[in-house]
Amino acid sequence: MTALPIPNLSLSSGTTIPQLGAGVYLVKPGEAVDVVGTALEVGYRHIDTASLYGNEAEVGAAIAKSGLARDEVFVTTKLWNTDQSRAAEAFQESLDRLALDRVDLYLIHWPQPMYGEALGAWRSLIDIADSGRASAIGVSNFEISDLRQLIDETGVVPAVNQIELHPLHQRRELVEFCTEHGIVVEAWGPLAQGKSDLFEREELLEIARAHGKSAAQVVLRWHVQQGRVVFPKTVRRARLIENADIFDFALTDGELATIDAFEAGTNFGPDPRTFDKR
Ligand code: NDP
Repeated sequence: MTALPIPNLSLSSGTTIPQLGAGVYLVKPGEAVDVVGTALEVGYRHIDTASLYGNEAEVGAAIAKSGLARDEVFVTTKLWNTDQSRAAEAFQESLDRLALDRVDLYLIHWPQPMYGEALGAWRSLIDIADSGRASAIGVSNFEISDLRQLIDETGVVPAVNQIELHPLHQRRELVEFCTEHGIVVEAWGPLAQGKSDLFEREELLEIARAHGKSAAQVVLRWHVQQGRVVFPKTVRRARLIENADIFDFALTDGELATIDAFEAGTNFGPDPRTFDKR
């Protein structure tokens, strides 16, 4: 099984992360072994899962079945909201489901500011990183104020912030803050979760035609060209291949600006400031 030529980005932890991976949110446990197995077979080496997704065991099984060495696959999982006050135990449960003794990246899934537990969870993640069982630690869906709290209170800057980000919702101020602090931005829902008219927009299709690429490939290229990590979700082999075939062309500044102009403040996921899911 040959790895695809996907660039690595450096994390503040001193480790690296493949800039493109496969996300498995809403990939059912019954199909996750096959989907992850196919992703690894076609050359992906980065899988983004979470305790919430209910498929950590299948992700781990697919990695084991692939025969790839542990160091060849970058695995991310996340601490679910109800576990913020018991992060150490929840992390071990994730490792047990994955059947791994280490993950490459462990994230706090949502800040849940109304409960005030994220800081305590972050202290636990720092201990986990110190133990070597997570090569890097970070957060997801954190706003500037949430990030500031962790940094001010612990001095430990999250390696990544995984946020909803796509052409219709670009989070520029937050991205700027992350960049200034050396926090790598991971874009979740990079294709706007397939819930918008994005792929039918003539400006985008024109760019796609100019490069002989699909609208989805252009959007993914727009992300990676700006230094973000992406892991589009698909259950289809052809799309896994399509989504990774974005490193042999470059968008011009004018094309990037055309996509930048799609900004509409439209989020498809919850608002992290008020999202209260226990
Ligand atoms: P995406 O933006 O990746 O969109 C997924 C949708 O796009 C699916 O319906 C998929 O359909 C479709 N799709 C995929 N590739 C193509 C293509 N080439 N052309 C047309 N349609 C395509 O949304 P996600 O929400 O899944 O985000 C990606 C990952 O981000 C998740 O899997 C998860 O790992 C992570 N995430 C993290 C969150 C967080 O809170 N931290 C929240 C949500 C997601 P099909 O499968 O049928 O191909």
